[in-house]
Amino acid sequence: MIIRPRPGSDEHIVRIDGNEYEAGEQMLAWGWTDGLPVIVPTVERVDRMCAGAVHAPEDELGFIAPRGAALSLRHLAANAVMAGCLPQYMPVLEAAIAAMQEGMFNLFGMQTTTHPCAVLVIVHGDLAEEIGMNSGAGCFGPGNRANATIGRALRLVMMNVGGALPGETDRATQGSPAKYTWCFAENEAASPWPPYRRLCGIEEGDSAVTVAAVEGPHNINDHGSDSGEDILRTVAETMSTVGSNTLYRGGDHFVVLGPEHAAVIANSGFSREAAQAFLYEHARVAVDRIPPKKLEEASSWGDYAGNLQEWGGRIPLARAPEEIRLLVAGGPGKHSAWIPTFGPTYSQTRRIERTQRASAGTGSSPIVVRGTAAQSLPVPIGDVPEKDVTRSVLILGSGPAGLTAALFAARANLAPLVIEGVRPGGVLQDAVRVENFPGYPDGVSGPELILDLRRQAETYGARFTSDDVTRVQLTQERGDLHRVWVGEREYHARTVILAMGTDPRKLGVRGEDELQGRGVVSCATCDAPLFRGLRVMVVGGGDSAMEEALELAHHAASVTLVHRRAQFRASPILLQRVRERGIEIRTPFVVEEFCAGTDGNLAIARLRHVADSGVCELAVDGAFVAVGQTPRSGIVRGQVDLDAEGYVLVQSGGATATSLPGVFACGDLIDRRYRQAVTAAGSGCQAALDAQRYLEQYEASD
Ligand code: NAP
Repeated sequence: MIIRPRPGSDEHIVRIDGNEYEAGEQMLAWGWTDGLPVIVPTVERVDRMCAGAVHAPEDELGFIAPRGAALSLRHLAANAVMAGCLPQYMPVLEAAIAAMQEGMFNLFGMQTTTHPCAVLVIVHGDLAEEIGMNSGAGCFGPGNRANATIGRALRLVMMNVGGALPGETDRATQGSPAKYTWCFAENEAASPWPPYRRLCGIEEGDSAVTVAAVEGPHNINDHGSDSGEDILRTVAETMSTVGSNTLYRGGDHFVVLGPEHAAVIANSGFSREAAQAFLYEHARVAVDRIPPKKLEEASSWGDYAGNLQEWGGRIPLARAPEEIRLLVAGGPGKHSAWIPTFGPTYSQTRRIERTQRASAGTGSSPIVVRGTAAQSLPVPIGDVPEKDVTRSVLILGSGPAGLTAALFAARANLAPLVIEGVRPGGVLQDAVRVENFPGYPDGVSGPELILDLRRQAETYGARFTSDDVTRVQLTQERGDLHRVWVGEREYHARTVILAMGTDPRKLGVRGEDELQGRGVVSCATCDAPLFRGLRVMVVGGGDSAMEEALELAHHAASVTLVHRRAQFRASPILLQRVRERGIEIRTPFVVEEFCAGTDGNLAIARLRHVADSGVCELAVDGAFVAVGQTPRSGIVRGQVDLDAEGYVLVQSGGATATSLPGVFACGDLIDRRYRQAVTAAGSGCQAALDAQRYLEQYEASD
């Protein structure tokens, strides 16, 4: 039997009946690797890896965005085995994970951006040599096991536990070879300046690790210059590019000097600080080098526009001299490297702990090894087939309703399992900024809010599985178990909380389905950058339409909002922003048809005036349909009572009980009136309390 949990988000070990090669092929097929074959993380190997760690196997090391799954030491160890690490590398990985948790590192952003940023790991101090790292010739790779596998282990954690899957949540346009692995050691011995770690407050005798969200290295060749100033000018000119994120969005940089360049610079009298100041002054881009529309678009980012005058029309690549991090690595030769970050991020440096906190043995582990199987995976805990487990509470859906239900059920010790779907978070996942969820005075992005809710539920014991429910069989008999399937996996539960939310509604006009993905789209947050410099329209008059229009205004050449009434359902504040942004509003119009051009993509939207029925054409490259939502109740249709539009019917008076015993519903799935994140959260709380009460009565009568 094969149980297939998603690594890092489930409770069971996997057993693969087959030899080592077959197990490896299976892991590749399941997408648990970076595309390269991995070492199979058998229980024994994971235990051995844990033995090299500072933390104990069950210790939690943090939450890995964007999925927000909790990372235990054992998960880390399993991914380290897969990457090919040795146990003595574990303290470096533990410190790197801790550094990546820092808010300024912006793990969520770097995992989900279209920019090709990778995690660069730099190891400083004696430990680098002890574990055999390369800080000299060819240290960026290939050829050294520690350099190669430490970076790779982190990438596997980011994919397997964090869920950053290319083309899905990892939205990198092209990605980068550095995303496979990138780790090297600082060449402190060849540095004319104090070790980098000393700048970060690390004591002389301690080792440290730095993590940074970076582009691949940009080589700097200077074989001719014999003065520090000239070499630094070559470095500054290499940095002065129009295409770097850092030019527009801040963030730090690494300049990794080869020892020969560093020696010439130091011998010319430059301290590290003086070299940084020189680079800050000279690594600049004159405004007239930037194409006008790019400049206009970038001007909407942060401090950029306001500072142009102060910068005298020459924009610095870094916002302060010390944000150009200078250190030495490499061997003989006259090359150095500039490594920019992706902008909204700052590198983090952490001391590497060396003392073990707990015995790393896992003697009482309940894992059972059978047959010839190479087995286990990053979450090896139990060996019980899911269908033999009866859960008290199963929650379907992971928007604010499902996650709040999970929090309350978890705090009632009901150990809820949330089947969160392959695209967790519901419609909130597309909300650019939520300004009306209590407790966030400055607003919060939809994905961040979801991550916070999820973390909170997980902290108290809620567990998650990241697949879609495929079938349910809800019983009508009080006391019988409800059955839920995710593919071939079967779950049994005493209570089920339905929190599946809604799907975007369609207009139902000609051309809408045919041109889906060829100009007709429903999520500006995801697709707006594809319409850079093009003409787009947004259909709808609610908050979603306003948000989409505002997001698109950052990218598109023109945005037209088309709505069927002169009155708007949207919050006045959003409507006002749309008006202030100069977005053209056309009312009262409905779309009659979307028409393709000769290239098969959307070219024309045919609009009909609601009052006089006059038809006009709007030339557009993109149409974003934001006309509300329909409840995602299809999977329970015919089992629980629904209204004519598909909303699940619940008892009057605010309760969440449905027409079936032990089945509760909450959030947008039952709400045609308020549909706010906070009301969904409130109704999730009610559903959990209702389920708890039902279970208490059930136990009392059992
Ligand atoms: P909504 O509020 O239901 O608005 C849907 C809009 O689409 C309405 O203006 C409606 O027009 C129009 N519409 C519906 N069917 C149509 C059709 N067949 N043809 C043309 N137009 C049609 O939906 P929503 O904007 O997706 O918002 C859903 C909920 O989420 C709301 O409660 C909203 O406040 C919330 N939300 C909040 C945020 C935030 O806080 N940042 C962001 C997004 C959404 P009529 O007005 O004429 O009915």
